[in-house]
Amino acid sequence: MNALLLISIFVTIRVTTFAESSKINWSFHGRNGPSHWSKSYPICSNKRQSPINIPLFKKDFQPSLKASLKFSHYTCPCRGDFVMRNNGKTLQIDVRNAIASLTLNRERRYMLDHLHFHWGSNNQIGSEHHFEGRSFPAELHFVHYNIEFHNLSVAIDKANALAVLGVMIQVGKRNSAFDKFLKYLHRVKDIGQGFKIPAFDVKSLLPKDTGKFYRYEGSLTTPPCFDNVTWTVLYDPVEISHQQLEKFRALRDNLGHALVNNFRPVQELNGRSVSSSFRLFNRIH
Ligand SMILES: [Zn+2]
Repeated sequence: MNALLLISIFVTIRVTTFAESSKINWSFHGRNGPSHWSKSYPICSNKRQSPINIPLFKKDFQPSLKASLKFSHYTCPCRGDFVMRNNGKTLQIDVRNAIASLTLNRERRYMLDHLHFHWGSNNQIGSEHHFEGRSFPAELHFVHYNIEFHNLSVAIDKANALAVLGVMIQVGKRNSAFDKFLKYLHRVKDIGQGFKIPAFDVKSLLPKDTGKFYRYEGSLTTPPCFDNVTWTVLYDPVEISHQQLEKFRALRDNLGHALVNNFRPVQELNGRSVSSSFRLFNRIH
């Protein structure tokens, strides 16, 4: 068998695996829940999976990290529309019209493709990442792909191809930035529904201080769990009100049930290091 044929077969298998990921039934609960994903998606049991419990007090402070995170066009001008969709697993907002990007370590540039959310049925659970054992009611993910690739679909299974920015969400004051899409959420209540919304300033969804963060090498947190993600998890959470969080919980899944608890449990670190851009002096409460 010549090398070209071998490469062709390999590419076909990889493409088929990803293309079928939306067809094979996986879920966040029950028979097709996270502990069964690796039967159909072997990568899900690899050694650098996400999310993780971030060990806040390990001495892995890297002063140079702070300057290594650069946002471009996260603020407007925004062009055209964004598209919001309930895909039965999450609320996803396609924000490609923002033409926003993230640069890591002064060299690798990643385009922002979409945002999506993970949330719980109550305020004790919901986030994917934990901070020293503590979970938050929800977590926002900004998903980026390396500009070496044409789009997210091409990049998705390539080495060093993805960068995800994670933001913890806690319950507190109403957050007007979230109303830019939450006011349309009733339009995507059921699985498969999509709705165009006016483009908005995605930076307004971030906390004021984006200089404190954790960095580690991990994976997609849903099948096929490709382990090519450089994770940046911000330390400062954002606040939304209880009423705003309830709007997420009113979405419905493929069975018509409340779409809640759409998070993967934390995975083993397996010796990976987690770097921080800041030194933590006081224990959080
Ligand atoms: Zn996610």
